[in-house]
Amino acid sequence: MTSTYDADNIFAKILRGEIPCHKVYEDDIAIAFMDVMPQSDGHALVVPKSPSRNLLDADPAALAAVIPLVQKIATAAKKAFEADGISIQQFNEGAGGQTVFHLHFHVIPRYEGVPLKSHGRDMEPDDILAAHAEKLSAALKGGK
Ligand code: AMP
Repeated sequence: MTSTYDADNIFAKILRGEIPCHKVYEDDIAIAFMDVMPQSDGHALVVPKSPSRNLLDADPAALAAVIPLVQKIATAAKKAFEADGISIQQFNEGAGGQTVFHLHFHVIPRYEGVPLKSHGRDMEPDDILAAHAEKLSAALKGGK
């Protein structure tokens, strides 16, 4: 089993602009974009620019820097998607549920009594992802 960072992972390619994404936010610390297989409408990913496989090998300073952005995206997502709550998920290694080996945080709008769709199963149509990205971007620009 490998446990080193592979710079050819799909999120590293998104960070380098080699493949597209539905981006909602970017700064020096991280990028945020829509998950292509959302578990709920508005499911976004926050991906730090600093390379690590996951939380286990991350620089603590990079973790500290990214959490305020996770909070910012979560606050905007709750507003944009009129959610009752937000789940933050973060998986570590295959046994921990991780499928893309560059650290990321899932920000998932939740509704009372509504279960999550399966993790990484159904691909959302591009036009819906684009509309959700626009909604989330607008909430981010409007502040809290
Ligand atoms: P995990 O590594 O298990 O935390 O999950 C990786 C997540 O990335 C899954 O929810 C996938 O739906 C999502 N995903 C995979 N490829 C892409 C992509 N190119 N753009 C956006 N999301 C992706």
